[in-house]
Amino acid sequence: MPAKPSLDRYRAKRDFRRTPEPRGSRRRRPTKGEPRFVVHKHDATSLHYDFRLEADGVLKSWAVPKGPSLNPADKQLAMPTEDHPLDYADFEGVIPEGQYGAGTVLVWDAGTYRNLTERNGEPVPVAEAVEQGHVSVWLEGEKLRGGFALTRMRRGKNEAWLLVKKQDEGADRRRKPVRSQPESVRSGRTLEDIAEEAR
Ligand code: MN
Repeated sequence: MPAKPSLDRYRAKRDFRRTPEPRGSRRRRPTKGEPRFVVHKHDATSLHYDFRLEADGVLKSWAVPKGPSLNPADKQLAMPTEDHPLDYADFEGVIPEGQYGAGTVLVWDAGTYRNLTERNGEPVPVAEAVEQGHVSVWLEGEKLRGGFALTRMRRGKNEAWLLVKKQDEGADRRRKPVRSQPESVRSGRTLEDIAEEAR
């Protein structure tokens, strides 16, 4: 059985009197309908993308330095980060200096997903799949569509995963949404717009 998801690590890193990020609550029951995914663009110490999948009432999260690619030949490094609250899926704003993850955040892509993870022909729930080190999903986003696989390559302190696009109709070697579609799917704003408005 996977460990019970918890927001303890998420909360311990943050001071909610200073950061506009949601404190969040762990929902006992999953939300209705298909589970959600979100990709945040986060201009912190270094720019990266946070890939998040709803599972067990939280958002399972990975930081992807180069962002998702639609080219199945690209193997994008993905470092696991702490579970985030479901409310975080809608978060955009500026995390103040001195706070964990200080910098500007926007919702780069969002939508629903289907879990395709199987083991010996049997479906594996996402939280369990994360523990086992392999997750396969079908994304229905605005920029990202189709199958993606997340696979753990290294365990331990510097745990590392790879995020790879599967070969299907959503694959595209030429379209590079990270470059061509930098704006928020929630507000249409760029990182610069959000940073400017927060001033
Ligand atoms: Mn981040």
